[in-house]
Amino acid sequence: MAIWQKKDNSTPEQDRSGSFFSMLPVAIVMCALVLVLAAVAKNVSYTAQGPSLELLDVEKQDITHLSGKSDCLLIYEDDTMGTMGLNEMMSVLSQMRIPFDALECGDVQAEMLADYSELVLSVTHYQYLGEVLGDIRSWVKAGGNLMILYPPELSGSFRSLFDILGVRDCGDSYAVVESLHFSDGFLLGGASRDFAVSDPYDSSMSVYLEDDCEVFAQTSGAYPVPIIWRRNAGRGTVVVDNLGFLEKGYRGLHCAAYSLLGPACIYPVINASAFYIDDFPSPVPSGYAPYIERDYNLSIKDFYSSRWWTDTYNLAKKYGFKYTGMVIEEYSDQVSGIFERNTDMERYLYFGNMLLNLGGEIGLHGYNHMPLVLEDFDYMGLFDSYSQWRSYQDMRNAVNELKNFCASLYPGRTFQVYVPPSNIISEDGIDLLASDFPDIKAIASVYLPGGLAYCQEFQVEENGIISTPRVIAGYILGDYTRLVALSELNFHMVSSHFQHPDDVLDEDRGAELGWANMFANLSDYVDWLYTAVPSIRSMTGSEIAAAVQRYDYIDMTQTRSENGIHLELANFYDEAWFMLRINEGQEIVHISGGECSHLDNTLYLIRAVSNEVDIQFS
Ligand SMILES: [Zn+2]
Repeated sequence: MAIWQKKDNSTPEQDRSGSFFSMLPVAIVMCALVLVLAAVAKNVSYTAQGPSLELLDVEKQDITHLSGKSDCLLIYEDDTMGTMGLNEMMSVLSQMRIPFDALECGDVQAEMLADYSELVLSVTHYQYLGEVLGDIRSWVKAGGNLMILYPPELSGSFRSLFDILGVRDCGDSYAVVESLHFSDGFLLGGASRDFAVSDPYDSSMSVYLEDDCEVFAQTSGAYPVPIIWRRNAGRGTVVVDNLGFLEKGYRGLHCAAYSLLGPACIYPVINASAFYIDDFPSPVPSGYAPYIERDYNLSIKDFYSSRWWTDTYNLAKKYGFKYTGMVIEEYSDQVSGIFERNTDMERYLYFGNMLLNLGGEIGLHGYNHMPLVLEDFDYMGLFDSYSQWRSYQDMRNAVNELKNFCASLYPGRTFQVYVPPSNIISEDGIDLLASDFPDIKAIASVYLPGGLAYCQEFQVEENGIISTPRVIAGYILGDYTRLVALSELNFHMVSSHFQHPDDVLDEDRGAELGWANMFANLSDYVDWLYTAVPSIRSMTGSEIAAAVQRYDYIDMTQTRSENGIHLELANFYDEAWFMLRINEGQEIVHISGGECSHLDNTLYLIRAVSNEVDIQFS
């Protein structure tokens, strides 16, 4: 049995006065720092320590899929909201490794309910459920766990469920939700501030609840509207998710709502935080930029060296995280012919070695910034200035030149992570990387869909490439970005941030705010993250890829008892991480086959070290 406690929140710069022996580590660190800085000044590359987590040499085709009995039934209506809810909840449940069946409203029969312990309704018009509604009510009272996935039409049929949902009264119009307040301990990082909702609409039922409802999320302000609540009904539980936003960026909130059903809920997580720097190192524009000149009276080049990098570097040192820098060799639009070597290597050595000495990683972005697409790719008129590669061989030659360039700069390194320029890459480009560049293990494109962007899930693809999408980006870090970050911290226990040095030149990315404000936004995010989960693992692009492999491959069957959960894991290699929510006021008293740390209130982080994990509650 091993139970470890939440790690302390101290950051490295906190004062640690005391005896000679307590000062000794400080002295050693100082000496090491001096040596590191001396080495950097001479552009000497250090021999790096090995990664904190090694990539697995396991093919996706070789993993086992368990086919346990489905305990969860997802009932959906074939309309717009019902289908959106179905799609989102299928992603949420499958990634939580909860076996489920999905049925359209009209195909549900009362006797089916007895086969399930959880029921999720992605339904807009409850009258379509007909007499089954009465059976659902009886099923809950007999011990079933029901989740209403989104606010439906306020029909008489839906109102007939109010007594088990704990709704005392409900207005005829829907409430516009502009800001969310989460109760303490419901979400990691959720209670430390309220979260504004971008693009609010009349999304949520204006309900007034019975006193025995437990509210986990509500609107901010003097007259809060309940957004997520739970109520015991007979021997069962109901959870109402009154949010009404059914899109990828909110999956973590629906996952958290689902995890309130029943006595406890456990699901695998990645447990990683990564920070990417786009186009870094790369050639720097000459001359001046308006907002940098306004605030600092420095050229772009001098600003990057003296302010931007100093602040960015120190932030990583303060919180102990690592950067993955994505190299661009030059900025031409050349897409055929001989790709000449960039001989101006000074900046690459200076910045690249500092980044590596921080424990970071160098990844491949492009010989130039032209996405890996051939001439048959349709840019839909969006990127008129982009040239398309003449041939597969030209793309290969360019990536090869970039790889050789990096190898000459950073000897002994392997370049395993690729970020597509402008987040665009064609099937041909992906095939090229997968088949001709075996060193490239991971592609880090974007998590959220949009435009022509190559949008990913955290998973290993059939071609063996590990998809490690970046979730949020930039230095504005507005309302939506914050909510998405909160959602992913609680869904995958992941943070993946992407910044570009030239964000400070671009008004659309916040340049007018000035660097001081932009950096303050990023610092605030980082502080929120490491306060919410001090123990989250800070990782490079390759390390998070290794974590995604283990996360994606793991499968599990769970056996519940009154006071515990027993997990049997498939595709377990050396470790696997899980988030556990215990709903009924219990605590973990024993765990075997794993270790456990208390995250917040009812949330625990479990590290499996064996393919069988047994968790006992008090
Ligand atoms: Zn770029």
